[in-house]
Amino acid sequence: MLHPDTLRGFDPQSDFQDLIRQSEDLFAVFDSEDRLRVANPAFCAAYHCDPAEQPSWRQIMQENHAERRGAVIGTADIEAWLTSAAAHRGTSAYRAFELALHGGRWLWATETVAPDGSMLFYATDVTSLRSESRALRKERDAAQRASWTDPLTGVPNRRYVTERLEEFLEQQRDEPEFGDHALAVLDLDHFKQVNDVHGHGVGDAVLVSFCRTVVNSVRTVDLFGRFGGEEFLLFMPNCRIEVARQRLEGLQDEIARSANNVDHPSVAYTFSAGVVALRPDRDIHHSIRRADKLLYRAKEDGRACVRG
Ligand code: GH3
Ligand code: MG
Ligand code: MG
Repeated sequence: MLHPDTLRGFDPQSDFQDLIRQSEDLFAVFDSEDRLRVANPAFCAAYHCDPAEQPSWRQIMQENHAERRGAVIGTADIEAWLTSAAAHRGTSAYRAFELALHGGRWLWATETVAPDGSMLFYATDVTSLRSESRALRKERDAAQRASWTDPLTGVPNRRYVTERLEEFLEQQRDEPEFGDHALAVLDLDHFKQVNDVHGHGVGDAVLVSFCRTVVNSVRTVDLFGRFGGEEFLLFMPNCRIEVARQRLEGLQDEIARSANNVDHPSVAYTFSAGVVALRPDRDIHHSIRRADKLLYRAKEDGRACVRG
């Protein structure tokens, strides 16, 4: 047995930090605004960043992609990739994936999301591990991503959103208190007219621009996806309904300002929304139906408004 004296000078907290600093594995913590706050040297070296500058995840990815370093991002359209990745990021309490770094290294990475939205990123080198089946795993991961993603806008599709919501509800039911969680259904106003007046291609561009604006405005933990056509769902965990309503109205202002981001500056558009508080005793489809009814009321009340 160890004599207590042997443990003298052992400070679990600072030793833990020292060991993480020394580790060749990558450790980083992003805050709820997705800014890098702490990272060990291995992470900083792989992603060429400095937590003292508090760069956002988006910035880190953008800069690394431009300089052809950090993670390999196989895309010709980095903005579209960032929208899709940001829309999926932080929407699940835990996820694990394999990724390639420029220079040939492979990492096994995990993301753990705290209820407040901060995230622990951890990754370890797996370059020499099961490399013969890597191509197969990549293919499988790509197929899974595709089954979760709306091909036009890159945001999560109905299936992904429904699965995450069911998972969230399940986890939440085990908590001592259910908390305030808001669920909104958003629908673009008079979208048929946008298509009729400007053509289907411009309609598509509006949908892409709308998703980009929303994804850039919402929190990492918010879950935003395309439910079908010009209808979208926005889930805001740990958010009271009054706050959710304000945030949706803020989003409406944002959309009004961003309308000229669409390739065709003459296209102005609005959206209506219905928002409800999630209920622990009913399933997710019940909440969606209630939000849908409120959306219908918003349409009746003249559109470009939020009801709930
Ligand atoms: P409201 O304000 O009542 O919602 O009117 P609306 O015209 O937006 O609603 P409606 O349901 O009548 O029309 C929806 C339109 O959205 C019709 C459909 O062609 C168009 N739409 C659905 N999906 C897509 C798409 O992927 N691309 C384009 N360009 N249009 C789409
Ligand atoms: Mg519509
Ligand atoms: Mg509709």
